[in-house]
Amino acid sequence: MAYQIKKAAVLGSGVMGSGIAAHLANIGIPVLLLDIVPRELTEAEQGKGLSLEDKAVRNRIASTSIQKLLKQKPAPLTAKKNLQLITPGNLEDDLEKLKDVDWIIEVIVENLDVKKSLYEKIDAVRKPGTIITSNTSGISINAMAEGRSEDFGKHFLGTHFFNPPRYLKLLEVIPANTTAPEVVEFMVKFGEDRLGKGVVIAKDTPNFIANRIGTYGLLVTLREMQSRGYSIGEVDSVTGPLIGRPKSATFRTLDVVGLDTFMHVAKNVYDQTSGDEQKVFEAPEFMKKMVENGWLGAKSGQGFFVKK
Ligand code: NAD
Repeated sequence: MAYQIKKAAVLGSGVMGSGIAAHLANIGIPVLLLDIVPRELTEAEQGKGLSLEDKAVRNRIASTSIQKLLKQKPAPLTAKKNLQLITPGNLEDDLEKLKDVDWIIEVIVENLDVKKSLYEKIDAVRKPGTIITSNTSGISINAMAEGRSEDFGKHFLGTHFFNPPRYLKLLEVIPANTTAPEVVEFMVKFGEDRLGKGVVIAKDTPNFIANRIGTYGLLVTLREMQSRGYSIGEVDSVTGPLIGRPKSATFRTLDVVGLDTFMHVAKNVYDQTSGDEQKVFEAPEFMKKMVENGWLGAKSGQGFFVKK
């Protein structure tokens, strides 16, 4: 079968989903950007007498993400007209629309059960031959494919973008045991030729390659900081701009990634390792407390830094 991607759907319009949708729009691919419905009304919506069923409310997560994209510096959509290629919607009402797309990219919260329950719904509506990929940071691709139809398994694999997805060139492609070789081949070529990425094929091991190394490095840095009493500023200076890595300061990176997402990613590899190796992947208590407080990083306005 000759694959082609004329239309895509991005499921999840958070930090990564909205960026991936913008990247696709920038290369001319129309994209549906779906997310779950809001659970409560804002004060402004209550003031207008809206209910949770109103379309304006139900689409607000995706619409908000798109508006944010336009304002992002130094990375707006390359042309405002590209915004028209993104159609926001919600994951419940608009699931049927997945029939019309050639590629479904799942970019929702990093949790195996939540992702699996979405795949079950996707499997029921997608047309055969549609490629489905997950942007998971490190959950097993094989575990996510379990229980799905044969055609789903053949067309399912990991496509792990890096944050921010419009700029970072790395794309990890992670085949499941069931993925058809021609689907892997197509995705690698599409990743390089159309998405403009440098593709690395990774095995389905916990956190794949980049996040296995990256999580390790970040957790060792956090532990060193705590035990030696370094400040956040000192650590960010020696791991960031002052050493010629403007974007890779430790705490700035954690704020951009999202502290909750980082904790999921660390837990994922912690749960799948043992002994001395496992100890390195234990996240520090202070980060657990930050997440409990709702300090999730840039996306919630407060992480290690307060967003102004
Ligand atoms: P996020 O918290 O910013 O967004 C997650 C989105 O999923 C939210 O908008 C939420 O509403 C939505 N969602 C849809 N259905 C849901 C459901 N049933 N339950 C809960 N949420 C639901 O997260 P993110 O940072 O965009 O991460 C999304 C995926 O991408 C995760 O798998 C993550 O591991 C991966 N990832 C994240 C980064 C990063 O730097 N943040 C980098 C690479 C990969």
